[in-house]
Amino acid sequence: MKFARLGPVGQEQPAVIAPDAHGVEQHFSLAPLTTDINGVFLAGGGIERTREALRNRTLPVMETDGVRLGSPISRPGAVVGIGMNYAAHAAESGSAPPEVPVVFLKPANTVCGPFDAAPIPPSSEKFDWEVELAVVIGKEASYLASAEDAADCIAGYAVANDLSERDYQLPGAAGQWTKGKSLPASTPLGPWLVPADELDGGRLRLRSWVNGEPRQDSNTSDLIFDAPTLVHHLSQYMLLEPGDVIITGTPAGVALSGRFPYLQPGDVLEAEIEGLGRQRQEFYRAVPASSQLTSAEGRLA
Ligand code: ZN
Repeated sequence: MKFARLGPVGQEQPAVIAPDAHGVEQHFSLAPLTTDINGVFLAGGGIERTREALRNRTLPVMETDGVRLGSPISRPGAVVGIGMNYAAHAAESGSAPPEVPVVFLKPANTVCGPFDAAPIPPSSEKFDWEVELAVVIGKEASYLASAEDAADCIAGYAVANDLSERDYQLPGAAGQWTKGKSLPASTPLGPWLVPADELDGGRLRLRSWVNGEPRQDSNTSDLIFDAPTLVHHLSQYMLLEPGDVIITGTPAGVALSGRFPYLQPGDVLEAEIEGLGRQRQEFYRAVPASSQLTSAEGRLA
């Protein structure tokens, strides 16, 4: 069972992908159960109610031809990033493996669809990819006593790409990473949200490619801090709410390593996690707002 949201930006409709009575995988509309896949749905037993509706065959089949796939959850309250959570990536970034999780925040408006065209900022020369296991919170998490309690707060998993501008993140950062991690559409999420009880989030192969050439290839078993440990740790410092997203860090094989060129307009990035699907973005150069104005004036003239 996989959750997805289909439709134009801001008008996505909730769906579940599951076998029909004949064993053929279909997209079923969740409209009889919910208006959206969000924290309210997840905290209100939405996953169990979906299973029940599938068993009772009460969900209508959805038409999907040519329909855009959005992020599999609606805009979260928070997107929490974890830095250098794979030892080989810490090494390629010039750092020792951290002894406690390295934490940063991304604006929630960076979340976008898994196949949306991806803008490179107008002045960017070091735009980089990061395939990551995304954790979606299903139950409020605050001051949790243990990683076991934290595992109960995880609704499911998805593929994320933590697009990062390295000159904004590191030399231009003045002490923190926010400027390199906040760019528009810099958190493609999806294609699907898969419930946590349907796979082992601690044993999933994750990979990325640029223009079909392999870049990252690792496994979530290599995470320094696994998903429940991260949720437990974060809950000591912030209130995690249903629908919030934690992106758990990226493995080695990014451009920052010096082994590969940074992303250019026209490049195609693919990111895949075993059991969670594959996303794909084609990159283009974002145009400064003043240039957009000039070209509009040009058309008027
Ligand atoms: Zn990252």
